[in-house]
Amino acid sequence: MTVHVTGCSTATADQLVSREIRTESGQREVFCGLTGIVWLHRKIQDAFFLVVGSRTCAHLVQSAAGVMIFAEPRFGTAIMEEKDLAGLTDANDELDRVVTQLLARRPDIKLLFLVGSCPSEVIKLDLSRAALRLSQRFSPGVRILNYSGSGIETTFTQGEDACLASLVPELPAQTDTKPSLLVVGSLADVVEDQFARMFEALGVGNVAFFPPRKSTALPSVGPNTKILMAQPFLPDTVRALEERGAKRLAAPFPLGVEGTTGWLRAAADAFGVDPAKFEQVTAPNRARAERALSAFKSELGGRRIFFFPDSQLEIPLARFLSRELDMQLVEVATPYLHREHLAEELKLLPIEVALTEGQDVDDQLDRCRIARPDIVVCGLGLANPLEAEGITTKWSIELVFTPIQGYEQAADLAELFARPLVRRAKLVA
Ligand code: SF4
Repeated sequence: MTVHVTGCSTATADQLVSREIRTESGQREVFCGLTGIVWLHRKIQDAFFLVVGSRTCAHLVQSAAGVMIFAEPRFGTAIMEEKDLAGLTDANDELDRVVTQLLARRPDIKLLFLVGSCPSEVIKLDLSRAALRLSQRFSPGVRILNYSGSGIETTFTQGEDACLASLVPELPAQTDTKPSLLVVGSLADVVEDQFARMFEALGVGNVAFFPPRKSTALPSVGPNTKILMAQPFLPDTVRALEERGAKRLAAPFPLGVEGTTGWLRAAADAFGVDPAKFEQVTAPNRARAERALSAFKSELGGRRIFFFPDSQLEIPLARFLSRELDMQLVEVATPYLHREHLAEELKLLPIEVALTEGQDVDDQLDRCRIARPDIVVCGLGLANPLEAEGITTKWSIELVFTPIQGYEQAADLAELFARPLVRRAKLVA
């Protein structure tokens, strides 16, 4: 059980060690890792994601991404029919045929991901061997990699982790001895551009983003690379980068004014930026973001919020909502809690907050119903039933698709939580 401590304070290092976290391993209500394709295919503009799966997988990706009628999409599904699943055909031959057809029709594809699914795993189709075989045929024009987005192995945002981890061995070795900064995790292009300008103003040079917009411009990595995580759900990617010699900078995540400042400061300190210069560059942005945020304090201050585990963004979001908007955290649940990567966040989170790792959905729904929070952050599958019970919800998936990082987006992030509350108030008025 989680221990509730009275009083409102942030965690000291000792408390952090002793903070009790409820762990649950019951039934989960989360999307599988295929969902990551929805934002990754927009980010890496010359990549194609070929899901090797069933009609269910095709429907999931298609409906999550929306039907694209204006352009050829950069994702698709090689649908495994019953005869494939029953082992009556050679799935490898079929896959080779589909890939050959696809690459002949789409010369713009420079990087092809074969994405495993539950069905491909059930029949033990070896996609790593397939990727190797097809790479030999199509390199150097097309790089072919594989990762798993299966619901057996991954949740929602882990798809990005698996995808990026598969790309790490392809990164060239860093040859120069100058330190470089690698920002790891997909960010909307607009956010990436804002951060690039900010690093430049601070004098932090040699900055690259991973994943890159073009697979032909992969950033290099080596012992002089410092990693700044932009997303909290990338443990495998970061481990693979560390194995290449890169060093992770301890930092909170760039959500809200405080998180963005802490995140930028971690990079600035690592690159020896003068604190006075840091202050001079960030102060106007901070002031503007704080002014914009203050408009949402009256709406959100004192409101009680409950997080179901879904995106792995829950802890940074909870920190932002409680410290910058005075929201009350009823329960903050996350599918996985990486103690090291989240350490700077946990230090900032009020010590009395009930934290849960994993999920037992029925038990958690019971706790939520008893608590009757003002707003619940959850996956799509839970949102409709909770709304029907009169509980206001926010879809966690929207928080991954929307640009929310950085100073300029802090107020937009607050508005994402204020909007459903305003809508509910209008409905009941
Ligand atoms: Fe469903 Fe598994 Fe396909 Fe995901 S990978 S859509 S969980 S069958």
